[in-house]
Amino acid sequence: MSNPLLDMQGLPEFSRITPDIIEPAIDRLLAHNRAEIQRLLDSQGRYTWENLIEPLELLDDRLNRAWSPVSHMNSVVNNEALRNAYNACLPKLSDYSTELGQNAQLCAAYQQVADTQPLNPAQRKLVDDALQDFHLSGVDLPREKKQRFREISQALSKLTTRFEENLLDATNAWSKLITDESELAGLPESALALARQTAAQRDLQGWLLTLEFPSYLPVMTYADDRTLRHEVYQAYATRASDQGPHAGRWDNSEPMEEILALRHEQAQLLGFANYAERSLAKKMARSCDQVMGFLNDLAQRSHPQAQQELEELETFAREVHGVERLEAWDIGYYSEKLRQQRFDISQEELKPYFPETRVVPGLFAVVERLYGIRITEVEGVDVWHPDVRFFEIRDADGRERGQFYLDLYARPHKRGGAWMDECASRFFTDHLDQLPVAYLTCNFSPPVGGRPALFTHDEVLTLFHEFGHGLHHLLTRIDYPAVAGINGVAWDAVELPSQFMENWCWEQEALGLISGHFETGEPLPDGLYQRMLAARNFQSAMQMVRQLEFSLFDFRIHREYDPARGGRIYEILEQVREQVAVVRPPQWNRFAHGFSHIFAGGYAAGYYSYKWAEVLSADAFSLFEERGIFNPQAGQAFLHNILEQGGSRDAMELFVAFRGREPRIEPLLRHSGILPAQQAR
Ligand SMILES: [Zn+2]
Repeated sequence: MSNPLLDMQGLPEFSRITPDIIEPAIDRLLAHNRAEIQRLLDSQGRYTWENLIEPLELLDDRLNRAWSPVSHMNSVVNNEALRNAYNACLPKLSDYSTELGQNAQLCAAYQQVADTQPLNPAQRKLVDDALQDFHLSGVDLPREKKQRFREISQALSKLTTRFEENLLDATNAWSKLITDESELAGLPESALALARQTAAQRDLQGWLLTLEFPSYLPVMTYADDRTLRHEVYQAYATRASDQGPHAGRWDNSEPMEEILALRHEQAQLLGFANYAERSLAKKMARSCDQVMGFLNDLAQRSHPQAQQELEELETFAREVHGVERLEAWDIGYYSEKLRQQRFDISQEELKPYFPETRVVPGLFAVVERLYGIRITEVEGVDVWHPDVRFFEIRDADGRERGQFYLDLYARPHKRGGAWMDECASRFFTDHLDQLPVAYLTCNFSPPVGGRPALFTHDEVLTLFHEFGHGLHHLLTRIDYPAVAGINGVAWDAVELPSQFMENWCWEQEALGLISGHFETGEPLPDGLYQRMLAARNFQSAMQMVRQLEFSLFDFRIHREYDPARGGRIYEILEQVREQVAVVRPPQWNRFAHGFSHIFAGGYAAGYYSYKWAEVLSADAFSLFEERGIFNPQAGQAFLHNILEQGGSRDAMELFVAFRGREPRIEPLLRHSGILPAQQAR
């Protein structure tokens, strides 16, 4: 019988993708690709786009299209057999890509194409990106250094895994059983239910608190018992370190030092001064000085207001609750009390006005007005779960642009969070017309008792955010997958289209399209809207300086690494806090020991990207504030200069083409309610 993963005509046949067919399909594709790549390299005297790059892109696309539904199903309809098949393929895929990255013959062939062939701008960018990836994989190092490069890569992969495992073990090792419910006073019903369920799962009577985020966060935000908050905070803030209840047991101190040392050495092998420079090679920011200048500038502008916000909180805690000195474990708790007192708004109150039946068609109406496209539902498509819906996007003239799956509700065996992923990329050649297809996945509350699903405003923001990523992928006009849609876009610019879309969720004119009471159709009451706006920027400067603290710390430890002096991790963190923090955690706080974004994830010397992309998206939206949020010319400008261009050109070039100038920081500050210093309250 045919393997549906190998037959890539049209959409994936989800109902026929079973665990047993996965590994054989991937094995076959990898073997085929390896043989084909060698054949292509051996059979040509002179390499061209047509005889080398395009066939390689086709091989890559076929592999991606086979793997995409597997990886997607592993995330949204997980089971043990599927997970085993998925995990069995992972090392095979990573070996394959390492092998390609260090293939000197292949790199030389790309170089020949770059040097001798006429290429259009998108082709040029694709070949340049590929060449850069070869170099960053150490392809052109002398033999010994190449060997050392590989050793470092392997060591780093082990160390980052150990970092994650230590953190996970330390997180799992701590729990606290509560048998007297009064000790949990203040916690909302959902948090109590979770704690009861966690206890029951371990055959315990009562309520079990853990260091998992859904358990930790409500305790820090709502638990009235200050001693309890202190205890939980201390356990959480010292995980995997030399401090706290499990001091030294899963200590990340050593892996952290080694990770910094090896990253530094590897960056220097490639000719960079430090790992921060290496990280920027693939980003929009041009230099380390530019990133530091950016972060310092934001810090300087936000700090006075953050200080004021903290003082307000201190005054409130003292005057209303009689607390003289706020500790680290008090900040979240009294902030929530102050927020409730000041704005008296809850997500629950907003929900009846955001039924799925208004929000989803309203979202489509917003982007239809902005970009002149049309979105229609298509029935009868083979999907992985009955709740999944399928849509197509067409131009005003009826020409098809792309298609997407929409999987909105939380359910068992589905990974948490929300994301956009690629099912197929746009790929046009003389012989192929492949349109992009996306998966849009969320974890919202499902419909209950015959009512439509009701969303919180946060969920509406999430949906708009992911849809922004989706449009970037789906509306691309670039014909080669490696630089189409979100591919080939610098890491610090990739959140531009997504954060950009969120802005419409705060605009009255757009809210008219996306909201309406699920029973009466009554629009969102103005009083509620005003409170929603007022609460939007509560403590936004405090949040800003906290993100800046993380970003500066991350960037500086990678940039200032000195083999003679070691990582100086907490020394530098202390200096950063001295500069930007308004809340000073206790000396025993070991925040860095759990900072997996930078020690184990992809954000090393790149955490600043969050703020960087926010500047871009806020400044992009400011054009719509100037001209009207549904201004069709502004919409077309964003469509043609950003969404359609994907990674085919440098991100700054695209931004300037859209905005007519380089990005400015003021719109982000204004949207965050952070005023110029002289106007601060
Ligand atoms: Zn995003």
